[in-house]
Amino acid sequence: MARNALARLQNPAGHHYIWYADGNCHVCTDCGTAEHRNGRFYYLGRWSKDEPPCEGNHVARQSWLDTSNPDEDEFKHAEVNHA
Ligand SMILES: [Zn+2]
Repeated sequence: MARNALARLQNPAGHHYIWYADGNCHVCTDCGTAEHRNGRFYYLGRWSKDEPPCEGNHVARQSWLDTSNPDEDEFKHAEVNHA
């Protein structure tokens, strides 16, 4: 179950989410983290129910990558460029 818009806006991880219609998900304009409607967060081909931190927090991001799950369903969501 996805959280509501206000909770997303005030997310403690520091993301700036926008609705990304093609992927049917919210995507952070800073780091590319995608929040899907099933409550999962996707980043760099991995996913977790826990929200990864936004850019700048490299130690915590690496920790998230280490503990998250490999994304076996990549075709279900679009690749988002975050150059
Ligand atoms: Zn972010």
